[in-house]
Amino acid sequence: MDTDTLCKRYGVGITGGIAAGKSTVTRILSSWGYVCIDADKLARGAVAPGSKVLSAIAREFGRNVLTDQGSLDRKFMRDLVFRDVELRKKLETIVHPEIRRLLAVELQNVDLLANPRLWFYEAALLFETGAYKNFLANCLVTCDRQTQIARVIERDKVSWEDAERIVSSQMPEQEKKKLADVVIENTAGQKELEQTLKTLISHLPEGLIGDMNAEKEKP
Ligand code: ATP
Repeated sequence: MDTDTLCKRYGVGITGGIAAGKSTVTRILSSWGYVCIDADKLARGAVAPGSKVLSAIAREFGRNVLTDQGSLDRKFMRDLVFRDVELRKKLETIVHPEIRRLLAVELQNVDLLANPRLWFYEAALLFETGAYKNFLANCLVTCDRQTQIARVIERDKVSWEDAERIVSSQMPEQEKKKLADVVIENTAGQKELEQTLKTLISHLPEGLIGDMNAEKEKP
C-alpha cells in the first residue's frame, strides 16, 4: 500500500493546541502497542544539520536562520514566518517533500505499508495546514483554557501573560472542534485520559486495527 492510501484508510491525526496533551495521548497509545508517528520529530529530521533541506533554507532565507552550531534556529524561523503567509508557504515548499519522504521511510520501518493497520500521526497544525484532509479521521486533544495556560507556565517556565498570549495566538478551539471527528477531553488526570482513550478505541470499526501482531497488550 502507498503512503497516501495508508493515511486515508488507516491514519488517525492527533492534534491540539499547545500543551493540550497530544504527546501524552500518543505516549499512552504507544504503550498499548499502537504505532504513533510524531510530525515534529520528522520536521526536525528534515532540517538536520548538514542536510540538503537546511542548506536550501539558508539559501532562501539567509544564513541568520542558522545558529552558531549550524543547526536551524527554530524560534527565529517560526517568528519569521509567523505573520507572513508567503514566507511560510516558501518554507513549506522546501521542507514538506522531505517530511513526506521521512514519513514514508518511517511507515516502511514499522511495517505498516506491507501490513496496514491503525496508526496515529501527532501534529500540532493539522487543521491550520489542511493536512487533516489526508487522514481517515482526526482527534482534537483539548483541555480547558485555565488548565492549558497552567500547563504551559509549568512546562515552559513562562509568565502567565506569555502563556496567555501564545494560547490566544493559536486557532480558536471552537474552530478546531468543528473540523475534528473526535474531541479528546484532557482537563482531568491521566487515569481519566486513559479511560477516554480505551473507550475511543473500543468504538473503532473492526478491521481497522488489522493484524496488529503486536507484543504489547492492548486495552
Ligand atoms: P506541545 O505540542 O506544546 O509540545 P502537547 O499537546 O504534546 O504539547 P503534552 O506534552 O502531552 O502536550 O502535555 C503538556 C504538559 O501537560 C506536560 O507537562 C504533561 O505532563 C502535562 N499533561 C498533559 N496531560 C495531562 C493530564 N491529563 N494530567 C496532568 N498533566 C498533563
